[in-house]
Amino acid sequence: MLKVVKFRLYPNKEQQQLIHKTFGSCRFVYNQLLDAKIKAYDCKDNLSAYELKKRLVPMKNSKDGEFLREVDSTALQNSVLKIDIAYKNFFRRVKNQQKAGFPKFKSKHNSYQSYQTSTASIKDNKLYLPKIGKVKAVFHRGEITGKIKTVTISYEAGQYHASINYEDGLQEVIGSNNGKSIGIDVGVKVFVYTSDNQKIKHINLKKEIASVIKAQKSLSRKKKGSSNRAKAKAKLAKKHLKLRNKRNDFLHKVSKKLSENQIVAVENLRIKNMSKKAKGSIENPNTRASAKSGLNRSILQRSWGKFFELLEYKLKRNGGQLIRVEPKYTSLKCSRCGHVSKENRLTQAKFICTKCRYTVNADYNASVNILNAVGTTVKAS
Ligand SMILES: [Zn+2]
Repeated sequence: MLKVVKFRLYPNKEQQQLIHKTFGSCRFVYNQLLDAKIKAYDCKDNLSAYELKKRLVPMKNSKDGEFLREVDSTALQNSVLKIDIAYKNFFRRVKNQQKAGFPKFKSKHNSYQSYQTSTASIKDNKLYLPKIGKVKAVFHRGEITGKIKTVTISYEAGQYHASINYEDGLQEVIGSNNGKSIGIDVGVKVFVYTSDNQKIKHINLKKEIASVIKAQKSLSRKKKGSSNRAKAKAKLAKKHLKLRNKRNDFLHKVSKKLSENQIVAVENLRIKNMSKKAKGSIENPNTRASAKSGLNRSILQRSWGKFFELLEYKLKRNGGQLIRVEPKYTSLKCSRCGHVSKENRLTQAKFICTKCRYTVNADYNASVNILNAVGTTVKAS
């Protein structure tokens, strides 16, 4: 079974320089070949992953390509393969009617930098990286037991990390589930409402958001190119990381809990529509609040996408399934008698059926409708 572990690296000064040199070289080949791919595409020519990889050779052999010869060659190859992956992901999102986001050029100003190598190994409690050497690392004993497939070296907020992908040699462990089918309604007011009547509130990130905004403000006051600006930038990256970690912990927890079910039905949401909804209920007129609402909005958008991704993965691992149903009057339909009317929703929180007088929490009613849509408008994934 493929496993991933992430741990902190402590490269020395010289190794740090080499790592950043590798980031730069990977970014260079990625951008050059992404550009080639885009241009080829304009001429109705689709450069395959194999053809892109072949182009790496003359780049390295050219007179100006010396710096490429000095870094880990598998890192460069993996960087080229990422172009193909980015394209595939892009077309998949288009197909699923998600927010697409065309493959982007990489910038050296990104707060997160990374490269992936295929030939790293662990020796004497150190991580051996080609062309860089043995890097001090903190492992947990006995954690990595199998064959290492790939290692991603990353730098963010002043810290270096390695994510190791390895095959532990054990058979795929399929967890178990409770055999239940539920529907869930996700929203701006309540994060998740389930058809077995569980309400999961949004995580409170007010403190983390406030410190990101504070760090942003402080950065905006610093002179361009000054060392204080660099410091403020590093601080902002750290605050972002803290916010993201807290949010991810939450998403992992909720998705793990829900993956105990066999089937979870969700609305096939178009993230774009959700963000509009979020905008309406969060936005405030003054500027400080609007910076906050902008941040809130982007956190919400990313949270939902990531949440469904995690949930789907965890369900599958337990032998379950995530089913996306087409949204159809989910919030306006009475889950008891099927009557559809705008009048059923005179308030945001309560659902009162004008036909059968069924009175119930509106999110709960929606989650039951989502569950009931399985088998009728199902679009299995
Ligand atoms: Zn009714």
